[in-house]
Amino acid sequence: MANAGGPTEAAGTTRPQARGGTNDKKGETMSTTQDKHPGRSRWAVSVAQTVGRPGETQELDAVFPAPSGVGDDFYGLPEDSDVHVVGALDSLVDGLMFQGTASARIVGRCARCLKDVSHDAMIDLSAFMPVAVSRAAENDRLGRGSKASETLVDEMDEAEDVYPLTGGGEFADFEALLRDAFIQALPFTPLCSPDCKGLCPQCGIDLNKNPDHRHEAHDTRWDALESLRERLERQAGATGE
Ligand SMILES: [Zn+2]
Ligand SMILES: [Zn+2]
Repeated sequence: MANAGGPTEAAGTTRPQARGGTNDKKGETMSTTQDKHPGRSRWAVSVAQTVGRPGETQELDAVFPAPSGVGDDFYGLPEDSDVHVVGALDSLVDGLMFQGTASARIVGRCARCLKDVSHDAMIDLSAFMPVAVSRAAENDRLGRGSKASETLVDEMDEAEDVYPLTGGGEFADFEALLRDAFIQALPFTPLCSPDCKGLCPQCGIDLNKNPDHRHEAHDTRWDALESLRERLERQAGATGE
């Protein structure tokens, strides 16, 4: 059951750019918590209506800016480029479970021929977003009479795929999740194509465009044999006359 009224409306309400942030009343209570990412984070999605209501589902269809630190200039996700996230946040007793996909364009250079390469990547996302324990969060929840009790265990913060809610449990912040997921998804060696021939190690010419490119083989290890061959040929020529 989607409490946001349907996918279309959810798309509008959860789009992070649409959030005003600072003049938001929730944004102020946020600063009293110990969360690093207040509601005005560009990756924050309001989940206040879903969290603490086990069984509820909140659809998410949003475009986030790509977080920094995914790859490098050579190959990666350009910071602030679009990352399209589609999925659903399922409310559990102690937090939210997010499952969905993220689509973005990975750009860089081929490791063999240095040609610009890019590809549209779609990766699966799966994360548990527990309600973080904090005095402010606790008070906030008591104040609203929420029955959502059990909060999380501290060690879970360290575990993979666990991204605690921010703002006293009012926001799901996708920054760290996206960064981690894309870093994991980057191929070890970016190639323009799996059978890229690369560059000539001697002159640097692109062997994909010049498949017949060769250099005169000149390996000094063969010089002795080569001169022997020439001598033998001369001798053969001489005796042959
Ligand atoms: Zn290449
Ligand atoms: Zn060459």
